[in-house]
Amino acid sequence: MTDLADLHKLLFQHFKYRAFLEGQEGVIQAIVNGRDTLVIMPTGGGKSLCYQLPALAMEGITLVVSPLIALMKDQVESLLAKNIPATSINSSLASSVMNERIGRMARGEYRLVYVAPERFKSEHFMRTLAPLSIALFAVDEAHCISQWGHDFRPDYTRLKGVLKELGQPQVTALTATATPEVRDDIIAQLGLGQSGREAPAVFVSGFGRPNLTLKVTATTNKEEKLLHIENTIRELKTGLIYCSTRKNVESVAGHLRARVRCVAYHGGMKDQQRTLAQDEFMSGKCSVAVATNAFGMGVDRADVRFVVHHDIPGSVEAYYQEAGRAGRDGEPARCELLFNFADVRTQEFFIEGANPTHEVIGDVYYALLDLCANGPIEMPIADIAEHVDGTNNEMAVGSALLLLARAYVIRRDYRPGSRTYTTHLLAPVKRLDELKIDYKVLDEKRRRDFAKLHQMIEYADHNACRHGFLLRYFGDRNAAKRCGACDNCLRANKGKKPAAVAVKNAAGQTPRAGKDKEDKIANEKAVLLQKALSGVARMKGRFGLGRIAQMLIGTRSREIFDSALDKLSTYGLLHDFGYEFTADLLARLNAAGCIEITAEENARAILTPLGEDVMRAKVALDIELPEYEKLSASATQSAGESQIVDEAPYDKKLYEALRAWRRQTALRMNISAFVIYPDVTLKELSRRKPRNADALLEVRGIGPAKVTQFGAETLDVIRKFGGGD
Ligand code: ADP
Ligand code: ZN
Repeated sequence: MTDLADLHKLLFQHFKYRAFLEGQEGVIQAIVNGRDTLVIMPTGGGKSLCYQLPALAMEGITLVVSPLIALMKDQVESLLAKNIPATSINSSLASSVMNERIGRMARGEYRLVYVAPERFKSEHFMRTLAPLSIALFAVDEAHCISQWGHDFRPDYTRLKGVLKELGQPQVTALTATATPEVRDDIIAQLGLGQSGREAPAVFVSGFGRPNLTLKVTATTNKEEKLLHIENTIRELKTGLIYCSTRKNVESVAGHLRARVRCVAYHGGMKDQQRTLAQDEFMSGKCSVAVATNAFGMGVDRADVRFVVHHDIPGSVEAYYQEAGRAGRDGEPARCELLFNFADVRTQEFFIEGANPTHEVIGDVYYALLDLCANGPIEMPIADIAEHVDGTNNEMAVGSALLLLARAYVIRRDYRPGSRTYTTHLLAPVKRLDELKIDYKVLDEKRRRDFAKLHQMIEYADHNACRHGFLLRYFGDRNAAKRCGACDNCLRANKGKKPAAVAVKNAAGQTPRAGKDKEDKIANEKAVLLQKALSGVARMKGRFGLGRIAQMLIGTRSREIFDSALDKLSTYGLLHDFGYEFTADLLARLNAAGCIEITAEENARAILTPLGEDVMRAKVALDIELPEYEKLSASATQSAGESQIVDEAPYDKKLYEALRAWRRQTALRMNISAFVIYPDVTLKELSRRKPRNADALLEVRGIGPAKVTQFGAETLDVIRKFGGGD
């Protein structure tokens, strides 16, 4: 077993890094201790080191399966530059070179060998591997193994057999994108933790984006959305507006253009126009882009201050990826979803289009039998769709054509000069149920796509911490319950009275607290302000408040390490307080005149003379601290008893009964449960137990329409399960 000191030594010796990034240390320890591991970190999170360092600490060679040849080459070059013997074996090599490398591998001359997955098809290669001692089998981009991922590669599914043939070496699988289903798939498909080994250690880290404020705003119409977007642009200047359709991009951009400079971007535009739009945005010539999800690859403008979603996207991962383009510079940014339940229909339409049903495929087939009766037809999809009985979803017809072509029922080809594809019916004509189409897989994919959309709706409807929701979605079990940077937490905090700080003449103001205790708290708070301000001072005016907060709480990120901010004496000084508290505290110190923000593009923070004096305890400052559970536990208890509504006690039995009723009703009506009542309303109902329509109307979230529609049933449930008070 290798201990921690050894790992640190290797880290510095070979990689010249002084510390591990968030998450790396735990992963590496698990690996060198022999555990199978699944590592989920965002791009740039530092995944490669997670197997490169163990490769040096363990005996034998480390195989790295990677689908991207270009990436392999980069990695090998960077390892060689560090004097770590490594190579890559893939189909781009001349056979003489490949054989030479395989020979050297067999002689044990490499610590790491990068392999393209299709290489394992070669018997020669497998025979060479067989006698070698494999320390670690690392599978990069491991989501490629799952049909449910966005980048399925059939060659990856062979890996399970390969591992078996190689005698089940220790495995580590790494990916930046894994939904719960993909995660489970990776574990099952690679047989992690099987063959008598311990269950795999799953690590999820780095997905938290504490500088993003998450928000969902209910909107009822287009005008409201536009107004909201205009206000956001006025307030935050630089950002992205995502729409789900090209049409919406055109209409939103068209509307905004009369008021602000903005570019539009979607897949229907010509390449040249798109490049132009992207360049204008990236170069900063234009600060607002209205786009579909086609916009994103290569958009890494760091100072994006807001991402507004004009329409709900189809999945939580799509949402987080797009919203995550805000605040890359670590400074505060806002991600807002403008939610109107009617927009869900667009996503449903997309899903139906991408996953045609059995019936639609049949209808398309029958239409083609008719249309092609006299030979091939040169007809655009839209026209074919006119002849299909069961659907008017052109996308679904297009998808069905693709499936029929894959099943060799039809062939579609392109005649130069034509406006459209030609469709040939391939003989012999078969009965529908004889077609080689795997309906089970299609149905399953459809079901999963709908489930993903529903999770996105749940996000929109979520009434507790949105950061927590997202992190749990991505498998981070340590996600906090409250953040202070989402609309729900902020609303909840507002209900509470902030801890009052009265450093100056605090005596006698809080009758319940004894003088000693009060002095202690006052002193604690003064020290806190001094720590925060000295953090600002140490940064010497080079960074904004966001980065200062990150430094103060001891964030282990590359930006911090690159600027050597972890070397500052103030690094991690406010570790226990978390990002939101610290960022909020700095903002308050700014408002109180202790910190000045420079009026340039990259707003930097500097200490004012007053700030200096407070830092040196020459002046006592009287400001209110942001709400914080631990620090102010004693203070808040006496200061403000008000609890947020959601936490007030309620009748659990009644609540469960109402939920069960809501579930059934939603199923029956084929609508999302929260459309009936959100959870907060159910809780409120279980608390107040209204006995008639008038009382119902007093409950938050219930209006006359709801009373008409669900009132009688709701009162019924309350009568039955609400007890006798
Ligand atoms: P991923 O594969 O997760 O996208 P990489 O492994 O390419 O990420 O790492 C991203 C960047 O972080 C690289 O530039 C790498 O050199 C750097 N990096 C990795 N580990 C550390 C560390 N411990 N300290 C500083 N920089 C690191
Ligand atoms: Zn929150």
